[in-house]
Amino acid sequence: MEELSKYTKELVKLFSTSGNILLVCHINPDGDAVGSQLALYHYLKENGKEVEMISPNNLQEFLKWMDGAGMINIFIKQRALCKQLVEKADLIIMVDFNQPDRLGEAEKLVTSSLAKKIIIDHHRDPSDFADLIISDTARCATSEIIYELLSDIDPEILKNKSVAESLYIGIITDTGNFEHGTYSGRTFRIVADLLQTGIDKDKINHLIYNNFTDDRMRLLGYSLKEKMVVIPEYKTAYITLNKEDLSSFNYIKGDTEGFVNMPLSIKGIVFSALFIEKSGFIKISFRSRGNFPVNEFASEYFSGGGHMNASGGEYPGSLENTVSYFLKVLKENFSRFNKNA
Ligand code: 5GP
Ligand code: MN
Repeated sequence: MEELSKYTKELVKLFSTSGNILLVCHINPDGDAVGSQLALYHYLKENGKEVEMISPNNLQEFLKWMDGAGMINIFIKQRALCKQLVEKADLIIMVDFNQPDRLGEAEKLVTSSLAKKIIIDHHRDPSDFADLIISDTARCATSEIIYELLSDIDPEILKNKSVAESLYIGIITDTGNFEHGTYSGRTFRIVADLLQTGIDKDKINHLIYNNFTDDRMRLLGYSLKEKMVVIPEYKTAYITLNKEDLSSFNYIKGDTEGFVNMPLSIKGIVFSALFIEKSGFIKISFRSRGNFPVNEFASEYFSGGGHMNASGGEYPGSLENTVSYFLKVLKENFSRFNKNA
């Protein structure tokens, strides 16, 4: 685990010398991306800074209630405004990603900006496209890193409940409620501090996990009953969903969140994939148990990345072609990736 306090002096200097700070998260932002962004937003606002936020694309429905989420500008919907915000910024802080293509359609605009740039992240192998990279892969969430940085800068930071709530959401979502990821004893000490602020954990858990439509429950049932394929020989299971499947259950963004984890509760399954048809390409999520590096699998075969047990990528073309390519590379490489005894 990195000693993160070594970064705080430089961070404080950058905060205080910057007039317009822009916070940017990754495409298809998850709870950790939005939680990290909002925690920094509330902290900097409270300290009198001019702060703006951009997400490359829409937020998932179950994150939209978070305090400040309505202030996040959506690049693909508000291009002209976002361009102005990038041009105005003298400091850009990118959270929860470390590859420029995770900026989606905002990549060129953000990376070519002359503003000082900071990356705060917990993924492996950061690309060098920032002036300061604060990276610790031993942390379960970027929100955990932001907690360490902010509490070092200002021990009173957790008096701001919006900061505490945002960080808590980042940690619970990136660990799937402490089921996976690199959470540690330190994580629980941080969570203890967050809960001690009096944030309403029951309300938060309810809004994050019990806020779905009945259509989403039926889509989950359909996915497991009709669309899940189990391959015991390769300890693998996968689910495919095409556009028709999604529209017949009135899909809204975020509905398939968590589906990819389900097959991992089948005895003997160590590798799970979810294929979702988009316009012109297939978006894929990968999950694994134990020592099966799905981030390497995603980056070698599906132009993606992520963590040891949770990653994603994409593949051009049809669902059928993507699945046959997946089955081919799975069969050829399963034993190389599955290092579980
Ligand atoms: P999810 O399956 O929940 O979309 O993503 C799981 C993890 O993989 C997250 O940590 C996310 O940042 C990463 N990830 C998902 N899709 C991609 C991708 O296309 N490229 C890269 N580099 N990482 C991804
Ligand atoms: Mn994260």
